[in-house]
This record gives sequence, C-alpha cells and structure tokens, in this order.
Amino acid sequence: MLGLRIDVDTHDGMKRGVPALLDLLRDAGVKGTFYLSMGPDNAGKAIFNVLRRPGFLGKMRRTGAAGVYGWRTVLSGTLLPARLIALALPDVARRVTAEGHEAGVHAWDHRRWQDKLLRLSDEEVTTQLCRGRTAFRKIFGADPRTFAAPAWFSDERALRLQEEFGLAYASDCRGSEPFLPVVGGAALATPQVPATLPTLDEALGDTHHDARAFYDSILDAASSAAWPVLTVHAELEGGPYADDLRRFLREAAARGVRPVPLGELLAARRATGVPLPERPMGYGAVPGRHGTVFMPSEG
Ligand SMILES: [Zn+2]
Repeated sequence: MLGLRIDVDTHDGMKRGVPALLDLLRDAGVKGTFYLSMGPDNAGKAIFNVLRRPGFLGKMRRTGAAGVYGWRTVLSGTLLPARLIALALPDVARRVTAEGHEAGVHAWDHRRWQDKLLRLSDEEVTTQLCRGRTAFRKIFGADPRTFAAPAWFSDERALRLQEEFGLAYASDCRGSEPFLPVVGGAALATPQVPATLPTLDEALGDTHHDARAFYDSILDAASSAAWPVLTVHAELEGGPYADDLRRFLREAAARGVRPVPLGELLAARRATGVPLPERPMGYGAVPGRHGTVFMPSEG
C-alpha cells in the first residue's frame, strides 16, 4: 500500500489541477486523500520570503515557480487580490468525494499559517482551524474527518485544538509511520498519518535533476517502506508534471504497489492489532525544503 495525499494550495490548483488529477486518478483506477485549502490564496506573499531567506530566490528559479504557478498566483494576495480556493469552487471540491476520494481540510489561509504559525495568538490559531472546518461543512454538508497542516508545519496548540474536532486522523507532519502524538505528557486520541516520502518540489534541482528520476526513486522507496505516504500537489502533478505521475502510477501498479487514501492506510495499520507507537513532537529539516517541519522526535 502507498498512502496517496494530494495537497491543494492555490486557486488555480483547485480550478485546473484538481479536475486534471481526478481524471488522471480515475484512468489509473486509484483513490487518494485530497487536502483542500479553503480560504484566501495568498501564495503571492511568498515573494516577501525572498527578502528574508537566502536561497529562496534560487528555489523559485529551480522550480520555475512563475512558469509553473503562473503570474496570477505568484502575485496573489499582493498586487492582485487573494481569491478564495475551495470556497470559490465548491463544485470541483464535491467532485472529489463524488468520485470516491477522501477529502480533508488543508488550511484556511495556507500562506499565513505556513509563514506565521508560531507567532499567531492562540485565538488566531483557533480561528484558522475553525474557519477551515466551517468552510468544509459549507461545501460538503458534513464535518471533516481529517486535517493536514500546511507545509507539514504545526504545533502542540493546534494538535490540542484539533483533538476537539473528533477527527479520524490528521496528517500534520513528516515521519516514518502512523503514531499517536504525545502532548503535555499524554498521548492524544487523534492519530497522525505522516507523509513519509519526499515531494517533487523538494527534489527538483536539489536531490534529483528531473521528475522521472525522482519518481523512480519514490517507486523504490514505496516498495520497501512499511507505511509509505506520498504527497503530490495539484499545482505540479495536476499540471506540468501530470505525465510523470501517470507513468509512476502505471509502474507502481506493475510492481504491486497500491495507492490508497490515508484513512485506508491507517485502517490497515490498525488491523495489524499492534498498538500505534506514542511519540513526542519536535521539528526537523528535510532536504530541499526551507525551514523546519513538524515531526516526531525519535527515541
Ligand atoms: Zn500545502
């Protein structure tokens, strides 16, 4: 099994990338978990990171951000107004579940969370999470069963708040296997199903020179790991890298690797009867990604 997670970070990713991925996954006979950003597309605010983070510009150039995302998105929330993401395109969102995929909340304001989480007041963290949940209810008429923090960046406050949402699970971090996060000395009831594999945007220009080489390495890693989870992005694999994903899914099928929604991967893990490990949380770096990500601290 390979947990397949699809993150939707921008308005254009929702509008064009999601329908393209739905077609691609239907043709491949594959289901996954879509994490939808709900509120304003402030992707353009990443431009301010250029001023703060050395190397960000190089990363933009390597991944051809303006070419991949388009200028409308690169300027969204700065020179051009922020458009809503899933809330602006509820019919596209509902196609996700109508076609048998799992849907969850990625964010209210992806960029704000990713850039500012640790500086946000408790009240604002609550607001961000609750707005995401309210938007999900408005679109789907039901409570979300799963959340996934933007950029695998979260904190213990957010985990505690999400605990009250009665989620089946969350996918807020990187890691190696499903586990129960320990916060304030006690394990929470909401399991984490972490992303275990690198992403295409991390690999390009960093560890791999092209998408095909990257996906070959993912195939090897997915075949050998116990509970692998891959994240793809609507903006990338639902756009210029669709052919690479299509080829990967074909080869995964040939090798007997079966992509599934994260909820199904967790159910299979639980069915082993072995209790989930309990892990305190910390932060760490992953190759090709700026800053740190949320992850269980080892040992
Ligand atoms: Zn994201």
